[in-house]
Amino acid sequence: MAYNPVPSELIFKTLEDAGFTESVVGREIVYERANHRLPTLVVRVFTSAKVGRDQVAERGKDAIRVVLVYRPEGGGQTKAVKKGKRVFRTGATEDILKRMMDRARELYTMANWMSTVPACKNCGAPCYRESKRCAAYCYFKRKAAA
Ligand SMILES: [Zn+2]
Repeated sequence: MAYNPVPSELIFKTLEDAGFTESVVGREIVYERANHRLPTLVVRVFTSAKVGRDQVAERGKDAIRVVLVYRPEGGGQTKAVKKGKRVFRTGATEDILKRMMDRARELYTMANWMSTVPACKNCGAPCYRESKRCAAYCYFKRKAAA
């Protein structure tokens, strides 16, 4: 399928309409939405648009990435909980935007599920629904320190 850069403004507007707010990670424009049940779980959409530019920069290297992250209350380092499949900029604009929102919804739904299982007894982070393991992997950190 043909490469389609998709204007950044269209990506931003789509995300804003879905309740996401703009943020910046490094120099990349990232849109975020915290889960309403468990606000420490945040869906992040890495748009690949850089601060100070209108259009995406590098052709072919600029897939949109959608990631569910754990952000501890009161700040602290975020931790990737689940990475969605990359959204490549190929095909019709509306299809690209739809794939982006589908990935975002999948991860938002995953956060809904995670809100139904008890938080980690050790560090308070959310746990995965199936494995019941800590999404911040604190067990491995403790093991490494021991
Ligand atoms: Zn933990």
